[in-house]
Amino acid sequence: MKKCQFCGHLNPRQEARCPECGQYYSKIIESIEHIAAEEAFNTWPARVQRIMQASNKKHACHQEWRYFFGTLTTQAKFTLLFIMLFVFALMVIVL
Ligand SMILES: [Zn+2]
Repeated sequence: MKKCQFCGHLNPRQEARCPECGQYYSKIIESIEHIAAEEAFNTWPARVQRIMQASNKKHACHQEWRYFFGTLTTQAKFTLLFIMLFVFALMVIVL
């Protein structure tokens, strides 16, 4: 089932064009492909593969880390910081 992004008409058939308003669905297909490509790019195996294939592994690793950190939300960054602080505090108490 395809949903037209222009008029919202639901089309059960596999057509490239909306029968209601005549607009093409290609923009939806394009955006789905873009999302799929981005998801494939952001998987951990893909990251590891990029690092392994790079000539300068240290630089590639740093770049991947920076990219990963850039995708995190502020809340996720704070959560990560709190986990690190908690682990650090635990180590200080135990040792
Ligand atoms: Zn339509």
